[in-house]
Amino acid sequence: MTTPNTARLAKRVKLSEEHLITRMLNIAGDLPDVIKLGRGDPDLDTPPHIIEAGQKALADGATHYTHPAGIQPLREAIAGQIAEFGGADYAADEILVTPGGQHGMFVIALALLDPGDEIIVPCPGYNPYQQAAELADATVVKVPMGMETNFTLTAEMIRPHLTEKSKVLTLINPNNPTGTVTPPEEVRKIAQLAIEHDLIVISDEIYARLTFGNHKVLSVATLPGMRERTITLSGFSKAYAMTGWRVGYLAGPKDLITPMTEINHAFAISVAGVSQYAALAAATGPQDCVDEMRQTYDARRRAICAGLDRMGMRYAEPQGGFYVYADVASLNLGIGAGAFCERLLAEGQVMMYPGTIYGDHTDDFVRMSMTQPVARIEEAMTRMEAVVKAIRAE
Ligand code: PLP
Repeated sequence: MTTPNTARLAKRVKLSEEHLITRMLNIAGDLPDVIKLGRGDPDLDTPPHIIEAGQKALADGATHYTHPAGIQPLREAIAGQIAEFGGADYAADEILVTPGGQHGMFVIALALLDPGDEIIVPCPGYNPYQQAAELADATVVKVPMGMETNFTLTAEMIRPHLTEKSKVLTLINPNNPTGTVTPPEEVRKIAQLAIEHDLIVISDEIYARLTFGNHKVLSVATLPGMRERTITLSGFSKAYAMTGWRVGYLAGPKDLITPMTEINHAFAISVAGVSQYAALAAATGPQDCVDEMRQTYDARRRAICAGLDRMGMRYAEPQGGFYVYADVASLNLGIGAGAFCERLLAEGQVMMYPGTIYGDHTDDFVRMSMTQPVARIEEAMTRMEAVVKAIRAE
């Protein structure tokens, strides 16, 4: 008798029933006109000068492995950009270019976490941090945040979760799925806590240039005593609409970036050269494209919020990134966010993700991405209102 392959899988592979997102994507595949507010993948095109740089790099023969930390001019340009936008000063050998920021999360986890070490993550928060920590057999400690503080992570919320095993603290600023920007005074308090408890901080600033109104990100690595204990994670996907190019980076002290480069090499060898040259054009070329995208998201954000206000649906104030995190429970429909998303998709052909993906303490919230033009968002809100009315009428 042959052992079924499912029985051969490593214990870390969680065999669950079909994942909710996969199920929703399958349903969406059979529907004619779905408005997709699910994935965090901008509908906007990569700016033409970046595409041209990629094409030129290909024509010039950038078809080989590169240095495992990334091509030198890109690392220099990233260091320059970090400093220009209010981050810490880094040398080129303190930058590691990774195939997307997400890959960087796994590099960090494998470099820093031993079995039993504790990593603190915000909840709700971007879930691959948890998956990366689990792969390293570390213990994930979730700090629950709520609507009453607009899902702001504070030092006081973190403090009771600290133990002698706490090693890494994750700050996602702005956060996904909540769109919350951690206020600078809170970043300072969190930094103080990290120093007191000798923690390493991962500061995910991938949405830091996409903030709205007066909200600005204070980069934690710039604070006294923090540079040597912070790994800043970012990338080109979000601010330059370059998700498919797969270029992210880690910035940190050399004694952490060098071993992380070895791990990156073992896992990926290097990032595709063509993508690195495109990212170089993004980092060194005109930056008005980023501001244009930010304004585009700002208009979309207003369109979503106007629709939700009309329906009387509560949401966290979207301060940065391109998501709105809204409370299905506030609609009093008597169903959870997962069921709501499925009905909205089947009956209204609007796709959004249930908040359960980003933290397991609630089935109340949904995340909407601002990845459609305003007119489509308005149409999505109208359809959503109709589905809400239909559910209420049952
Ligand atoms: N960090 C956050 C908070 C994200 O939301 C994402 C993607 O959605 C990433 C990092 C990873 O992005 P990428 O791997 O495309 O660089």
